Amino acid sequence: MLNFRLSDAQEKLKQKARRFALEEVLPEAWRFDQKDDIPLGILQKAFEQGIMNTDIPREYGGQGLGLIEAALITEEIAAACPGVATSLFDNSLGMEPIFLCDNDQLRKKYFPKIAKAFKLICFATSEPTMGSDVAGIRCRAEKDGDDYILNGTKYWITNGGVADYMTVFATVDPKRKHEGICAFVVEKDWKGVTVGRPIPKMGQRCSNTAALNFKNVRVPRENVIAKPGEGFALAMRTFARTRPIIGAFAVGAARSCMEFAIDYVKRRQAFGLPVAGFQAVQFKIAEMYQKVETSRLLVWRSAWEADGGTDATVAASIAKLYAAESALEVANEALQVFGGYGYTQMFPIEKFLRDIRLYRIYEGTSEVQRMIVAGHAMNAYEPIMPPLEDLPVMREKTPSEARAEGQGIWRCRMCGYVHYGDAPPVECPYCFFPAATFKSYPPKPSKPAGEEGVPLKKDSKKDAG
Ligand SMILES: Cc1cc2nc3c(=O)[nH]c(=O)nc-3n(C[C@H](O)[C@H](O)[C@H](O)COP(=O)(O)OP(=O)(O)OC[C@H]3O[C@@H](n4cnc5c(N)ncnc54)[C@H](O)[C@@H]3O)c2cc1C
Repeated sequence: MLNFRLSDAQEKLKQKARRFALEEVLPEAWRFDQKDDIPLGILQKAFEQGIMNTDIPREYGGQGLGLIEAALITEEIAAACPGVATSLFDNSLGMEPIFLCDNDQLRKKYFPKIAKAFKLICFATSEPTMGSDVAGIRCRAEKDGDDYILNGTKYWITNGGVADYMTVFATVDPKRKHEGICAFVVEKDWKGVTVGRPIPKMGQRCSNTAALNFKNVRVPRENVIAKPGEGFALAMRTFARTRPIIGAFAVGAARSCMEFAIDYVKRRQAFGLPVAGFQAVQFKIAEMYQKVETSRLLVWRSAWEADGGTDATVAASIAKLYAAESALEVANEALQVFGGYGYTQMFPIEKFLRDIRLYRIYEGTSEVQRMIVAGHAMNAYEPIMPPLEDLPVMREKTPSEARAEGQGIWRCRMCGYVHYGDAPPVECPYCFFPAATFKSYPPKPSKPAGEEGVPLKKDSKKDAG
């Protein structure tokens, strides 16, 4: 049975996150945006109130909640400030590879620390020279006895400047591409680790983004998350579980833009009427509403798949892609109905538009999501319809009528023309391709060589279906 109703516990959690968003995040969001600074105090409060790190399993001292719960929380936080939501969820992104890996000792070492005290952990695949092409990592990991020595730079790392721990993807040999990628937990205080200055950004200025530099950093064997050759797949499995949450951010942020737009158009007058009275404006609101609702369904669906333990890669990409693109459209149209005021910093849409713009870029750009969805649709997806050349598109006669007249059915595989007769025509009367282009219908389940092109027997009992 399908059910979209939240449990009592989920509803309570959502309300708790909503209160936190309205009381703690919203009043501070613009100030920190202006300062271009991460509000660590707010994150610490979120930690203390149990709306951060909710996915740490109970056996390591966490709440053991799923992605649905994470989606509920992050929608609310992003509705108040997308930058704070990014900062807050980044711990889950940083912990996910540890959660997914085989090294239970690593979970035992770090999860209880992160569950008990306010600690930040970031996730680092991207570098100054690559982002989308994860197999193109250059940061080097060289084996030294049981340890690894890290050298290289990571770029664009959310919470990079403030995190205590770092989940770092590196390579034993850049030429080996996917096969060389490995991953480690690194601690900020280790010798050779340096963090860069906060990167000045267009939006999401309430989140910290910085580079990490490693100079001969010794990583002990116990901190290996993924051995060489296992890191790439681990990064992809991580994204399948974190992209639904980027979708949830987008839902929350778009929802606020829509709400502000509705509020504004009901108050604003033009041509003697509230702007809300114009159908052109109502249609914009309708578009916003349906995009928010549709995005949320896709997010919940992908989170539900991931929580169920199945590979949510495709659902997660669809959710992230659709929600990110939709949120940007919603914010853009919200700004439009605000008229000139929308373009000022006096109203909230300007900041939301800047913040929302990032959703199409991080954790895999919209182009990368399209590549994943296209790859699935064209290679893995199993079609229901028969191949085009086997389609029973008959115009003059049904297959049984043709059979009753003792005729075979022949389809030109080039232009689709259907010919009735004992044999295919010498050439197609439409596209002039030769008889060999014709295929007999109905298709045979397995086609031994030479059978193709043999006309149906008069007494054939087979139907075209
Ligand atoms: C604010 C912010 C926070 C971030 N946080 C993190 C973080 O915490 N950890 C982390 O590891 N990274 C992080 N990133 C990096 C982010 O994931 C990358 O920026 C993103 O994956 C895109 O990589 P890129 O910037 O190198 O663009 P590129 O990969 O260089 O791509 C440039 C353009 O080309 C397109 N493109 C690339 N390849 C193809 C292709 N095959 N087909 C079609 N189009 C293609 C891309 O879609 C993009 O439009 C963050 C980025 C930002 C801006």
